Amino acid sequence: MASMIRGLDRDLFAAPRPPDGWAAEVVGAASEARLPDGSERRFVNLDNAATTPALTAVQQAILDYLPWYSSVHRGAGVKSRLSTAAFEDARVTVGSFLGIDEDSQEVIFVKSATEGLNKVAHGLAGTGATVFTTLMEHHANLLPWRLHASSVRYIRTDDDGVVDEDDVARQLRAAPAGPKLVAVAGAYNVTGYSPPIHRLAALAHECGAEILIDGAQLVPHRPVDMRGRAPGEEIDYLVFSAHKAYAPFGVGVLVAPRRSFHGAPDQVGGGAAARVTPDGIAWAGLPDREEAGSPNVVGAVALAAAVRRLGELGHAAVASYEEELAAYAAGRLARVPGLTLLGPRDQDKRIAVLTFVLDGVPHDLVAAILGYEHGIGVRAGLFCAHQGVQRLLRAVVPASREVGAPSGAVRASIGLYNTPDEIDALAEALESIASGGGGYRYARDHSGDYCPVGWPREDAAS
Ligand code: PMP
Repeated sequence: MASMIRGLDRDLFAAPRPPDGWAAEVVGAASEARLPDGSERRFVNLDNAATTPALTAVQQAILDYLPWYSSVHRGAGVKSRLSTAAFEDARVTVGSFLGIDEDSQEVIFVKSATEGLNKVAHGLAGTGATVFTTLMEHHANLLPWRLHASSVRYIRTDDDGVVDEDDVARQLRAAPAGPKLVAVAGAYNVTGYSPPIHRLAALAHECGAEILIDGAQLVPHRPVDMRGRAPGEEIDYLVFSAHKAYAPFGVGVLVAPRRSFHGAPDQVGGGAAARVTPDGIAWAGLPDREEAGSPNVVGAVALAAAVRRLGELGHAAVASYEEELAAYAAGRLARVPGLTLLGPRDQDKRIAVLTFVLDGVPHDLVAAILGYEHGIGVRAGLFCAHQGVQRLLRAVVPASREVGAPSGAVRASIGLYNTPDEIDALAEALESIASGGGGYRYARDHSGDYCPVGWPREDAAS
């Protein structure tokens, strides 16, 4: 009974949060969307897995810092000294937010999770490394290994995309000699499923492998302590992107063991070398050797402000609020006729990402109607995880149904500022779409997107 209520009664949320929720924490929560009939409605953003709005604390931190903005590390003026201090302070703030081992690990500022993953993969090139990953990964945690690792092995997952831990151990034990890296998401961008990263770390280490966690979806939504709870559970490598963590200013993070950086860095240029002579290059020490060129100081300051604010709000409280809202959303969406959710049902195993198909309505048409007629932003498609989505779809669509089978899915993803009202709005809109409602005829425009016929392409926001 309790679990039924938990999924369906929005007034029974136990997670601590301010009475009005956290909408005031983000920039633009009150933005309005203009609908085809000319009316305006507060825009409901349920596309947080793609990117998140900035926190107001981040906006303020940038405004405070900008008058002091200058080059870092290389200038002698007061602004340069202050900027260097702000940049390095951001590194320390992010490191302690993630619980890194300061003695052995380094925080490297990169452009994004993608760049961090490519950097690690570049370091594996030519080492004979085998990477163990899954077919459910975002392409950012798949293609770099396919290009640079000596071989890539796929850990088994079930029909919901849940990692088979026995298969991890089996495959690691049977692996050829050479470096071994387990590279999996901390939370999947399609199903929201969050594997037991510390159990996987212990398994990897027992088998002589290292572990990398793609934290792009995990870090903003769950507290992460890279050290784990017991020896052996440590996460060796972690990447994430600030734009998914309420600081959309173009920075990302790679945490890696210091010993993993050797040879020439993947990118070279100013700052990466300590000494350059006609015959040789002496690479700079860490982190400089891995951050060639002028770094994104504003991005780092923004990210530090975001993680500080998450700490002030209580990251665990944010996580449990999002978990309850996701359980409510799953219960609400499950009642929409013809809607099938992809991935595991058990909310304890997932972050607040809900991906679904609606019987008889193409995924991108569902997203277009939600956007145009209801002012609700979601994402539709294959979410840069082509093999994973296809596998999930095969599991829910009968093999016999080839004509009209979905070729993609719709994803609603929750951030700390979303509310039960917004979930109700989504569910009601989907109910109306499922029952054939919708006041407009849609056709694909020149870019292939569905658009109401006669509605001007320039999307209007006020
Ligand atoms: N991994 C996962 C799980 C993601 O969801 C994403 C972004 N959708 C990435 C990696 C790549 O992140 P970015 O585009 O910020 O590099």
